[in-house]
Amino acid sequence: MKREQIPNPAEEIRITTLHATRGINFWSRRPVIRMDLASGAFDEISSAEVDGFIDALVTALPGLKDHHCSIGSRGGFLIRLRRGTYAPHIIEHVALELQGMIGHEVGYGRTRGGDTEGEYTIVFEHEHEQVGLRAAALALEVVQRAFANTRYGRCRDHGARGVAHDD
Ligand SMILES: [Zn+2]
Repeated sequence: MKREQIPNPAEEIRITTLHATRGINFWSRRPVIRMDLASGAFDEISSAEVDGFIDALVTALPGLKDHHCSIGSRGGFLIRLRRGTYAPHIIEHVALELQGMIGHEVGYGRTRGGDTEGEYTIVFEHEHEQVGLRAAALALEVVQRAFANTRYGRCRDHGARGVAHDD
């Protein structure tokens, strides 16, 4: 998929619910963040279909290469990205990675389709509630921008700095 065919991720992928649980919950014995998303047009656009998306994401967050995911060994998530996986699942991994980068030891995450088509529930572990909530919002932004970069390319006006922008 070429960049001009990709819809604007900032308009398509939206949070519908975001909160932190305390103590044992429906999903895990550990406290988790729950984020529900509507993925809009990105319900049908996988990581494998967008030119440059995986590179943009993994360059920004190299630690993603270490994620096991359902494959169960290092590099598992990268394999999933190459086979094609979708925005909510990618956001789950980014939220865990962002927390890992600041030294929080978190590993549990799940993404499931909701009752309504195109809606997803993401849950992931946190050590600190506020950090977890911030990681959720930031993860959404990172994934939106990785898709947007592939859509809009890098800003020529910023030259060598290669700063990405949205319009
Ligand atoms: Zn995974």
